[in-house]
Amino acid sequence: MPTEKRIAIIAHDGKKAEMVAFVKDHSALFQNTKLVATGTTGQYVEQTGLKVKRLLSGPKGGDAQIASLVAEGKILAVLFFRDPLGKHPHEPDVQMLMRLCDLHNVPLATNPSAARLMVKGLEAEVANNKVTK
Ligand code: PGA
Repeated sequence: MPTEKRIAIIAHDGKKAEMVAFVKDHSALFQNTKLVATGTTGQYVEQTGLKVKRLLSGPKGGDAQIASLVAEGKILAVLFFRDPLGKHPHEPDVQMLMRLCDLHNVPLATNPSAARLMVKGLEAEVANNKVTK
């Protein structure tokens, strides 16, 4: 039975351009999966032509919303390009999201190199009909 879970996409401001480039490079996968994103990241992803469910902006609770979806078993994988040089008012929410990914064994990629490897695994799942749009 294919999963209906979504791939979650989040990028801190300093990493949004990299996320857009990443999403464009892997659009074949993202066209075949359901997406959810924090508010502003979602706006950028939509500009690539992909359909994405947008939640609140990260600092307003978007990361916490995605953490909640992780806890509910509704997330297939999380792509979260973090800016390790920036300060973020919602750092507690970020920590919560990462903790819940580990607790629930949900794959989490926090930089493009890890995301590239993760995407290969997700492409295989799509090819094997384990993921549905
Ligand atoms: P944003 O949130 O996509 O609304 O900018 C991302 C974040 O900073 O967690």
